[in-house]
Amino acid sequence: MKILLIDDDVLDREIIKRSLIGTSYDHDVIEVGSAEDAIRLLQQSTFDIVIVDYNMPVMSGLDFVVQFKSLPEASHIAIVVVSNSITDDIILGCINAGAQDFLLKEEVSGSRLSRAMLQATRRFELEQKLFESYCHAKQLSESDSLTGLYNRHHFEDCLREAISVSERTKHCVTVFLIDLDHFKKINDSFGHEVGDQLLKIVAERISKKLRIGEKFARLGGDEFALIIENVDSIYQVKPVADRLLSIFALPFFIGEREIHCSGSIGVSICPHNGNKMEELVKYADIAMYRAKASGRNQYCVFEDNMQKEFFRKYLVERALRKALKENAFILHFQPLLATNDKRMVGVEALIRWPDPEINSFPDEFIPIAEESHIITELGRWVVQHAIERLAELRVSLQLDNLYMSINLSSLQLSDSGLVEFVSRNLLENKLKPRDLMLEITETALFAEEASSKSLISQFHELGCKIALDDFGTGYSSISHLLEFPIDVVKLHKSLIDGSTVNKRHATIMNGLCNMLNDLNTIIVAEGIEELEQFALCKACNVSIVQGYYFSKPLPEKELMAFVSAKG
Ligand code: C2E
Ligand code: CA
Repeated sequence: MKILLIDDDVLDREIIKRSLIGTSYDHDVIEVGSAEDAIRLLQQSTFDIVIVDYNMPVMSGLDFVVQFKSLPEASHIAIVVVSNSITDDIILGCINAGAQDFLLKEEVSGSRLSRAMLQATRRFELEQKLFESYCHAKQLSESDSLTGLYNRHHFEDCLREAISVSERTKHCVTVFLIDLDHFKKINDSFGHEVGDQLLKIVAERISKKLRIGEKFARLGGDEFALIIENVDSIYQVKPVADRLLSIFALPFFIGEREIHCSGSIGVSICPHNGNKMEELVKYADIAMYRAKASGRNQYCVFEDNMQKEFFRKYLVERALRKALKENAFILHFQPLLATNDKRMVGVEALIRWPDPEINSFPDEFIPIAEESHIITELGRWVVQHAIERLAELRVSLQLDNLYMSINLSSLQLSDSGLVEFVSRNLLENKLKPRDLMLEITETALFAEEASSKSLISQFHELGCKIALDDFGTGYSSISHLLEFPIDVVKLHKSLIDGSTVNKRHATIMNGLCNMLNDLNTIIVAEGIEELEQFALCKACNVSIVQGYYFSKPLPEKELMAFVSAKG
């Protein structure tokens, strides 16, 4: 038994040493006269037990116990405090501080010391077990069970902590919110197990890219978050975002499958964007949605105007749901005229939302309806009302062959019941599928969803005319004309606008019209505002024209006046 004896009184030390002589315990006593010397010694050599006097000048026995217990070496060394007098308060104070026993100096004996040592060992084992189960519980409460990363709860704590540190250090804290693109589709197509595997691999890939001090968490679903401290300029954001996005460059192999998946990242910075945990998460979320809206697989840093836009979107979305319930939309109709004699052959149904408070136009609310998936229901509303109005217009205008053109958004091409819905409405209104033209934009075809391809084919087989809308903007791909059953191509306004001012545009338009005519595709030119543009359409053998030059989209009643005025 290696004993360290600490007592400022030489005589007392002698008495204690003497009481140990003659016991059956082998012992080796090292003595020091102060607690300060003892602390130094304990850091150099190990002991089984420390006997310390309660009453000492400078550092008392109790102070020694407190300080000694904070040392890593202390955990399994027994401490016995000795004194010439004793009170319950003193005993309790020493035991609470971590001492194993408290003895009167005259009581010190080999057997009492050995008992204290046993107690110390046992206490150490129990404390160790308690600490392990505390660590386990802490880990469970802080981590995400699927990926082992921090969970939302712990992430929020870490972010709060980072913000408060940054207030002292004056460095920035940056939050990166990473959301997988089209994760729902992967989950729906391959099942949740594959989805879970993908999340695990994403977590592993990102974890490998982390640097010391970066805190990475899974907030839930397919949403991950990263906290980086000590970012001092916006220019430091890009390399981190690139580092995160790079993990999506290679496909994910899960079982037999090769899955391609990208991610969108929203970034918020403290203190530029805010200095509250909730604000930073909300702003990173808004920026992440902006990254998605801008085409996904990219990052976006939050800017103040985004919050205004986000709020506007939120208002419009909420009002759209209400308006749909209250049947608050109406349709306007823009005449489609035969180029050769300006006869009205059809009308395009264009939705209007006559609500002065929200004051929103299709270019704003249709994309919001698409994003929020309200478009499926709204689209059906348009289909049903446009078909009913066509039946009425044919009678009131006495135009038996008038057709109705309806815009279909890309999301509606996944509405598997839409073909049946259209047929039923046509039947109920005694109309034929050929009386309907469905306008689909190239962007919708670009998604190249198997479901959209099938829906377009079904509409074509049913007998509806299929029009490729906004041709000449963005992607314009000839392959769409070959791949899809396109009956009609609607040339976008920008193509016509450009052709009257720029010779090269005019040449392209002429060539395009020649090709389309050779393919027996009906050409509609939209956005005609001037006579010159109309003349160009005639020269290019465009079959049908539409635009403000002839008429703006009109309510049903004014359409009658338009037709009557033409005679
Ligand atoms: P779009 O399909 O390209 O419709 C043509 C847009 O151009 C209409 O705007 C129309 O009012 C406008 N326009 C027509 N002629 C002229 C012209 O000569 N000059 C100019 N400057 N503009 C002209 P609107 O009604 O505001 O609709 C905007 C877009 O909203 C539509 O573009 C269409 O993509 C979408 N939209 C409108 N109604 C519906 C609908 O019922 N369903 C769906 N899915 N989308 C719709
Ligand atoms: Ca259209």
